[in-house]
Amino acid sequence: MKIITLHTIGLSRICLGFFLFLGFHGLLFANTLNASDSLPPVLTLDEHHSQSMVGFLQYAVDDTGALTLQQLYDGEHALVFKDYAKQSLPGLNEYIWVRARVANPYDHDLQLVVNFEEILYDELLFGYPIDGQLRQWRAGLNYPFYDRPIPYRFLAMPLELPAGTSQTIYFRILASHMPLLSPSIGTTLSFASDMSNSAVINLTGMGLALGICLFMIIFMPLAMPSRETWGVIAFTCATTAVVGSYSGAYQAMLGDYPELHKYFMVALLALNSIANLFMVNSFFEVYKSNPVSHRIYKAAALVFAGIIVLYPWLGRYEVLMVATIACTLSMYMLLFYTAISKYRQGFPRSGWFLSGLLLFFVSSSFAAAGGEGLVPYDPLIRHTICIGIILQATLLSYATALKVRSNKEQAEEMEKRVVIADAASKEKSEFLATMSHEIRTPVNGVLGMAQMLEKTGLSPEQQYYNQVIFSSGSTLLAVINDILDFSKIEAGKMDLDPRPFDLNVLVENSAAMFLPQADDKQLAFNWRIDDDCPTSLLGDEIRIQQLLNNLLSNAFKFTETGSVYLQVRKKATAVAVQAESVDASMQILQFSVKDTGVGIASDKQKTIFSAFMQADRSTTREYGGTGLGLAICKQLVELMGGNIQLISAPGQGAEFVIELPLTVVSATSDTAKDKDQVTALDSATSLLMNQSATVLVAEDNPVNQQVIRAMLAYTGLNVIFANDGLQAFNMFKDHMNGEAQSISLILMDLEMPQMDGYETTLAIREYERRHDLAVTPIIAITAHVLEANAQRCYEVGMDQVLNKPVQLDKLVASLNQLLPAEQESNSA
Ligand code: ADP
Repeated sequence: MKIITLHTIGLSRICLGFFLFLGFHGLLFANTLNASDSLPPVLTLDEHHSQSMVGFLQYAVDDTGALTLQQLYDGEHALVFKDYAKQSLPGLNEYIWVRARVANPYDHDLQLVVNFEEILYDELLFGYPIDGQLRQWRAGLNYPFYDRPIPYRFLAMPLELPAGTSQTIYFRILASHMPLLSPSIGTTLSFASDMSNSAVINLTGMGLALGICLFMIIFMPLAMPSRETWGVIAFTCATTAVVGSYSGAYQAMLGDYPELHKYFMVALLALNSIANLFMVNSFFEVYKSNPVSHRIYKAAALVFAGIIVLYPWLGRYEVLMVATIACTLSMYMLLFYTAISKYRQGFPRSGWFLSGLLLFFVSSSFAAAGGEGLVPYDPLIRHTICIGIILQATLLSYATALKVRSNKEQAEEMEKRVVIADAASKEKSEFLATMSHEIRTPVNGVLGMAQMLEKTGLSPEQQYYNQVIFSSGSTLLAVINDILDFSKIEAGKMDLDPRPFDLNVLVENSAAMFLPQADDKQLAFNWRIDDDCPTSLLGDEIRIQQLLNNLLSNAFKFTETGSVYLQVRKKATAVAVQAESVDASMQILQFSVKDTGVGIASDKQKTIFSAFMQADRSTTREYGGTGLGLAICKQLVELMGGNIQLISAPGQGAEFVIELPLTVVSATSDTAKDKDQVTALDSATSLLMNQSATVLVAEDNPVNQQVIRAMLAYTGLNVIFANDGLQAFNMFKDHMNGEAQSISLILMDLEMPQMDGYETTLAIREYERRHDLAVTPIIAITAHVLEANAQRCYEVGMDQVLNKPVQLDKLVASLNQLLPAEQESNSA
């Protein structure tokens, strides 16, 4: 709450300051002053001090611009003069006549100087009659510097006043750009002393500013090389240059080229704005975080660049100056907007930065207020802009230095963390590699012993247990191998072992390994190596085999109907040419594994290549897996200089394509390579295919669930699982109540938690009786091979008993026997 209040106050102050600034300048244009027919008060001269002429002036506007100085002194004009007590010029782009009366009280002539302390008059016409002659001069931005009667950096004009006389003096000003009208008058001696005072102040201010610029240019980039640093340097230098141009510093240098000086003023102002945009953009990182503002910044910078480039062609200084100032003011609004919103967002060091920007505003507002007579006008006020710039540069540099330092600290901190994280990740990978190696050894022992045990004349029950040990052990080994590979690659310890190999053999091996699975799942499985594919290659055969096996195993895992197709192609000409240009014997081969399975949603297609990522958690539960396979594939493929791509859509199957650059060893021509093969479906076991009946399996052991799922997979039956007897009974009830598809058959384990197979069967039979339902066949699956158990099964109402391990042909026979009857009763 407190913070919000502070921010609000800060914001309102900023806005107030800004509008005051605009207001002061706006007043310059308002001329609601009293007209007066009488002459201005006489200013009695003091030969020891310069005196301000403010308060002794009258002015009138000459709309025609045709009146001459002579006509004014002769009184041949119809102008009505008004009193004027302000210190700024009453109008822009108009011929403004000013008059004053001065008196020499001394008994000697006075050599005087009227000092305008200003450079921004396009034209100053000044003159006075002496000895019946009119002496006059023209000076200002439109005239060469060295044509001035007094070649001083500000405009100053000479005046002679004989002893004891008074004189009305007239001069005319034309200006396009908010100048001051605050002349002072004094003897040449007092003018000389004023000049040196002003030079001291000016040189001190400018010298300090230049010193700061020099310091910044030399040291800041060395100490803090950053975009922010360059931003603040560019801005400070450009601002100092602008102030230099307003103090008339270049006018003398550019001597006889007034046009060039005017160009300089516009160009420097525009350049300063570009530097300002660059600084704020860099400091607040607008280019990173605010794309819209950044675009506006770029457009604004372009406008200013346009002014710089176009000015020499357009040459309309008056118009361009006004346009430039208007653009600059709008730009300041934009910058304040950025700075304030960043401040409110808590952007680091934005407070300091905002203060820097504000200071410049406050100081220029003070200067403008001085011109309007709102604050006492003195040399200090005149130099507030210069002081403002110095303070602003100091604050901005300080803010930048603080920010760059904290950026640097953050970067170092990040670097440290990355190094630590890298080391930790390496350590973890090494640990995993060691661990999995250590686990692999005993698991191999278990598997070996299980195989030995198989040959020792086991009872069927023992055989079944042994098979489960073997298959579980094999799965465990596969997982461990994956982890080992993955951590090896992560730890940078995976070395490839390229040797000559025959592509035919490699593909045959992979295909052979998956034939049984194709058979089991009743999937068509084809493979082919394209005719133009070289087959004698150099590469890490084992790793390539691993890649294919991984993809094939996924394809079979995630495909229930249809086909799996493995194809090896030579990559199309465009890249082949590119490959040839690298190495003539190099060839890019594409290994494609395409299936007609579940497919992968597009949002998952990138993540499945990351470790432990799986497309769909539910499929994982169904199919198992660690999510390491594809991560390993990707890393291996990249290790071999290739890439892996995926083309897939949900329900449309998936195609994984691996591109590997491989060296062709010799050009032996291969014989018939067309290896299209189709596995024959076993017609005997396909009897049950396409039957849509639902089978409920009540089985608490996940391994056994998997075994039965595998067996039923190709039958086309719809299989649902219950994890205990109670759940089985509830599912049965739900299905029979029509809340789901009705159950055609139940496979019932006997030993289950909550309710065992016997109790469940009794409950089901009771339910059927009470609701007058047809009897659902129940097959008991039991490891208890005793006759007494079988007897009990029939007593509670089961239809058949199968012993564990369940044999596929017996199960199919039972299903064939019991299911058709059930379907008939359903349709009856
Ligand atoms: P997993 O051990 O889970 O199979 P993988 O890294 O081999 O790990 O695969 C990651 C995931 O990518 C899988 O869990 C699966 O969701 C998806 N996936 C891989 N191959 C296929 C495919 N042929 N069809 C459908 N989904 C696939």
